[in-house]
Amino acid sequence: MTTIKTTNLGFPRLGRKREWKKAIEGYWNGKLTKTELDDTLQDLHRENLLLQKNHQLDSVPVGDFSLYDHILDTSLLFNIIPERFQGRKVDDDLLFDIARGNKEHVASALIKWFNTNYHYIVPEWDNVTPKVSKNALLERFNYAKSLNIPAHPVIVGPITFVALSKGGSQSFEEKVRTLLPLYIEVFESLVQAGANFIQVDEPILVTDQGSDLEDITQEAYEAFAGAELDQHLVIQTYFERANVKFLSHLPIKGIGLDFVHDNGENLTQIQNGDFDHTKVLFAGIIDGRNVWAADIESKKHLIDTLSGYTDTLYINPSSSLLHVPVSLDDESLDTDIRDGLSFATEKLDELDALKRLFNHNDTTKFDTFAQRYARFQQQDFKNLTYDFDRIRSERTSVFAERKIAQQKRLNLPDLPTTTIGSFPQSPEVRKYRADWKNKRISDEAYETFLKNEIKRWIDIQEEIGLDVLVHGEFERNDMVEFFGEKLQGFLVTQFGWVQSYGSRAVKPPIIYGDVKWTEPLTVKETTYAQSLTDKPVKGMLTGPVTILNWSFERVDLPRETVQDQIALAINEEVLALEKAGIKVIQVDEPALREGLPLRKVYHEHYLRRAVHSFKLATSSVADHTQIHTHMCYSQFGQIIHAIHELDADVISIETSRSHGDLIQDFEDINYDLGIGLGVYDIHSPRIPTESEITTAIHRALQQIDRSLFWVNPDCGLKTRKEDEVKAALTVLVDSAKKLRHS
Ligand code: GLN
Ligand code: ZN
Repeated sequence: MTTIKTTNLGFPRLGRKREWKKAIEGYWNGKLTKTELDDTLQDLHRENLLLQKNHQLDSVPVGDFSLYDHILDTSLLFNIIPERFQGRKVDDDLLFDIARGNKEHVASALIKWFNTNYHYIVPEWDNVTPKVSKNALLERFNYAKSLNIPAHPVIVGPITFVALSKGGSQSFEEKVRTLLPLYIEVFESLVQAGANFIQVDEPILVTDQGSDLEDITQEAYEAFAGAELDQHLVIQTYFERANVKFLSHLPIKGIGLDFVHDNGENLTQIQNGDFDHTKVLFAGIIDGRNVWAADIESKKHLIDTLSGYTDTLYINPSSSLLHVPVSLDDESLDTDIRDGLSFATEKLDELDALKRLFNHNDTTKFDTFAQRYARFQQQDFKNLTYDFDRIRSERTSVFAERKIAQQKRLNLPDLPTTTIGSFPQSPEVRKYRADWKNKRISDEAYETFLKNEIKRWIDIQEEIGLDVLVHGEFERNDMVEFFGEKLQGFLVTQFGWVQSYGSRAVKPPIIYGDVKWTEPLTVKETTYAQSLTDKPVKGMLTGPVTILNWSFERVDLPRETVQDQIALAINEEVLALEKAGIKVIQVDEPALREGLPLRKVYHEHYLRRAVHSFKLATSSVADHTQIHTHMCYSQFGQIIHAIHELDADVISIETSRSHGDLIQDFEDINYDLGIGLGVYDIHSPRIPTESEITTAIHRALQQIDRSLFWVNPDCGLKTRKEDEVKAALTVLVDSAKKLRHS
């Protein structure tokens, strides 16, 4: 039998109980000194390393652990410091300031890491002086060595790093060339320190853009080979198929490929003879992005197949385990469900089971996993039947007619004002929710608190003079988890957190069975709010595409089917709200853009199905019910037609960070449905002035028909303080009123 080795590409930083987050936030809030922070994080880092070593990995990744984000670490390593932060000592405080902004300067941009919900800090190249400032990677590698851990350094490669950067006057190629000697310096230091191989992450190579980057990739890796690094570097790809033939011809030691999220195409290329068998193959066979236990029998066959094509085979997760929670150990779950699950720690166990089987003919662990998997497959979580054609997926009338019916009922002024849904989740709100969850207070006490809070904010909105009000979402922890808790087919874990950005973590629900709506989810709060005012209160739901994208999804059904199941459930809620007299209903889809597949060939299918699900959820209302949707800014150009096809009566978009481009996108397709653009950046505690808001409105009105335009802030008011929100919304409403045609 083949001998195989096991490794990992990255481990979650958060800690089993989010110790990482708590320590870092503790430091920010002044509750921990820097030494205390360093000590806590070092303990956690050591624990992560030892845990991986104890799972018998032949090599444990180092360099994945970070105080915020590994791309930002790389920027600091190479002294790519945003101009406004230059001149300071390169240390952790600088790192936090770049990531979060400080009193003087705004933070660097956060962008979603490929098609995941992890966000990295965008490197800024304006007027930088690249050099190796402080070789933190070497320090971490030496630390692992001191613990006797077989380790390999991980670093994002030059092509991906530059591709994710912005600013600077140099061309793409010039930036890469500037970095090459610096990478060589770092690589050499690591080789001298004993690194057997270095994992160089180049996920950009799996995107469409990657094909255009092959020349510069070739040049870069030849330069590394010129420095005699060819026998030390492994190019690691993930999230999609790579060009195996191209990678095989590069002067490198090994190639890492994703065999889970590649639509089978990496294996096909290998079977076509595109892989050079003298290279080490790092086979990503265990899903690094989902929580399901592996079908371990089929993994065994995959290893058998792959071992025919390489002299040296490592097996590992398909990507960093950053995207899954740490361990199942802390969850109290029924065994029937537990059998089917695998978090980061358990995934390492699966690798170990496979290694024991292949290298030592030891079947014990393998058999246990195989039996569990088989047991889970027999469970009956999918016993519902759906009639997807039961409900309309088109509104009965066209927008122009609906608009008249809605206006008759809503009687809205010119330039109507509204908000995106949430109001501040004050410490008090969070405390009440936690107390209620932990049964420290009664249902009645919690309900009374929620009612008071809703009433308080309805009064505030009336006072400010907003036109379409919201109840404030005080009962919700998170816009997806909340629905996961209430819909059948979802499992909400206790500690299943994953990092979203910086210290922010989310707890995606797990869709394990058929989805079903069994009771009203939001009707009580929404109708209570509506009973307090004559103004329309907007019901607030999360859409099917976003619920699916921000959950761990089933893999035993096509995702489109699951998405439509969710759409039917949301549709029930839409109809329940309508029946209860709610005249405006918003169905948020902030994750629609992020779910777009990395490769263009899959875009059209994805968008068609996303539009279909949204319409399934929203189209069966009467003409006079106004459907809103909301999205957050993220390069809409590519999907603008799909947004139009949603046929939502009003879309509100978070824009303040890229105003001009966005309006251009909407202008290009002659958008002819209602639209509101965020007219001030809620991410800053600064209160906008009337003239700023007026300017933003005027600018938008140059492109957008006035009769379609709504005035609203960006999303995220739940993260702000009450006083800030009141003051800013007052300015917003006053500005709109002054511009109104009476
Ligand atoms: N209705 C949600 C809110 O206001 C929308 C959140 C989002 O855009 N991500 O918080
Ligand atoms: Zn948003």
